[in-house]
Amino acid sequence: MADHQPFPAGARRGERPAAVSACPSCGDLAGRGYPECRFCAELVDQAWLRDWQALLAAEQLSEGGSGERELAELVLDDDEIGRFSWTCTDWAMTLVRCSHCASEPATGPLDCVRCSMAEATRWSWDHSGTPHVITPEDHALRVARAVLRAPHRHRSVVASTWRLLIPFLLVGELATTGQVQRVRAHVLAGHYEELAACATHVQLTGLPELYWRRDESHRGDHQVRLDHPPPPRRAEDDQVPTEA
Ligand SMILES: [Zn+2]
Ligand SMILES: [Zn+2]
Repeated sequence: MADHQPFPAGARRGERPAAVSACPSCGDLAGRGYPECRFCAELVDQAWLRDWQALLAAEQLSEGGSGERELAELVLDDDEIGRFSWTCTDWAMTLVRCSHCASEPATGPLDCVRCSMAEATRWSWDHSGTPHVITPEDHALRVARAVLRAPHRHRSVVASTWRLLIPFLLVGELATTGQVQRVRAHVLAGHYEELAACATHVQLTGLPELYWRRDESHRGDHQVRLDHPPPPRRAEDDQVPTEA
């Protein structure tokens, strides 16, 4: 196997879509039908697949060949974190099965310990890679794809918010944490269809702010809408999202 620079960048081959457009297959903004809509899936996955194909070529292996699965298992070896790009890690995960639940790793039932371990291993790349090799845009797109491949492993508001944002992430438009929180608040308020009808990132992230506070008398995500705005947000609330 050829030598690799540690933590090689991913998703740098080919061009990303220049502008958000409607998917000719599902009719939603392209990417939003991921992964069920084939067109949306190909659009989202192309950056991952290009890197994987380049790795296969470098290893003189062919797609679907007997060596591909062995390569995937090697890429997913815990000791190999950072040896391959994060896109190759993700793609390798689609080529093997969880030894415990037989799902794609990190997409099985929430109580599958091996899927949880695969999830944690995947994100260790982002925590160890520098911002230069995995940009906030890369990271957000990676999170969005991972969440949409396993929406049952996340709160529905989280999955819905990433579904709304992914067409814009594909063209490099990254929402701030404050904007993401605002979109989530609208999803929680039952405005998904209204949000989905927004044709631009500015429209989607520019809806009026809704004001919520966590209801301390309940556990979990129960929130109460406020009639009055909370105190002004702190500057750090406008940082880019770093987690699902
Ligand atoms: Zn589609
Ligand atoms: Zn599993």
